[in-house]
Amino acid sequence: MNNTGGRRFGKIELQPSFIGKLLLRASANERLIRTGALLILAAGVASLAVLGVSLIKPGILGAPGHILQEKASELIQHAFSSGTLKLVAAVAVVIAIDLWALGYKNSALNSLLHPDKSTRTDILIFLLGIAGLWRYAIILSFFAVGYLLERQVTGNWGQNWMQLIPSPIVQTLFYLLLYDFLDYWRHRFGHRLSWWWEVHLYHHAAEKFNIITVGRSHPIDLALTGIFVAMPMAIFGAPIEAFLLIEIFRSLQGKLQHSMIDWDWGWLGRNVFISPIAHRIHHSPDPIHWDKNYGHIFVFWDRLFGTWYDGCDVNTNIGLLHNNENKDGFIFELLRGQLRFLGALFSRWDTKVGVLPENIAREESKRYREALAAQTIDA
Ligand SMILES: [Zn+2]
Ligand SMILES: [Zn+2]
Repeated sequence: MNNTGGRRFGKIELQPSFIGKLLLRASANERLIRTGALLILAAGVASLAVLGVSLIKPGILGAPGHILQEKASELIQHAFSSGTLKLVAAVAVVIAIDLWALGYKNSALNSLLHPDKSTRTDILIFLLGIAGLWRYAIILSFFAVGYLLERQVTGNWGQNWMQLIPSPIVQTLFYLLLYDFLDYWRHRFGHRLSWWWEVHLYHHAAEKFNIITVGRSHPIDLALTGIFVAMPMAIFGAPIEAFLLIEIFRSLQGKLQHSMIDWDWGWLGRNVFISPIAHRIHHSPDPIHWDKNYGHIFVFWDRLFGTWYDGCDVNTNIGLLHNNENKDGFIFELLRGQLRFLGALFSRWDTKVGVLPENIAREESKRYREALAAQTIDA
């Protein structure tokens, strides 16, 4: 990766700040991160134990016990809420489609039932999401900045401008286009800005697609997405009648895009919707595929802004060229990402991360493909 350690932002040279240097050094200190991870784990287990006690016997915890009891029942309600049921139903539907398209041996179900380290991370995040606990990771990861901003905006600055459009169909289309436009740039910045890439790479560290891989994102990446996409959308307001339909569509499309199904959707996939094959190009470790196919719903933005992959490769390898994740434990890796993000934010505003000049990308790709071929022969 093009991490030169330079302090460039456009053409401006930035001096590394003291805090940035300190944080980057901390992110490379394994013992420090291990200790932090252990402390977080202990705090997590202790809070769950306290929540459990408050649920059974709020009396022994005094007045705070009743507040905690409410919190605990809120989490249980969340686990059985209609939102969670919808999520589980959507996953079940796509798992069934995947099973039908690929057969059991190559299916996501098989991979989920026999998980490797990468898949275990996907499962853990999925379960934390269902239990309503992942939300807290997002709130805490960015010192509640994203969460509070989003609450402020959705609570006080919502304008409902969308309602000014008379036709619900036009409202829906406008909403989808605006959402996907913001999401395209959110995603592109996630690759181009050094500090954002430090956490977006967590999504790309997945080495297998299991449908639920769609939800594997670093909490800071999600907090930044909230600031960049959810907040502006909240100002515009959502077409309520169509919202459910949009959610179902987006949810199914997102899950299909994180499967190994070889669907390119023909003309539709080249001109309108991002297909599973198109998003798989985006997850390829092959340098020739980097910086391509950022869109999630529509193909237009990639075509318009020059990041559409026009080749005919069907990529079957998922992951990063140099992958340091899925090795050191779940909390450790989250914490390391957190430190790397903060370190880069305070020192390295490079806008060229993950983008190689055409000729170098070609060379690197050649080397990558040769190494891959040698591996296949060895195996
Ligand atoms: Zn990406
Ligand atoms: Zn993805």
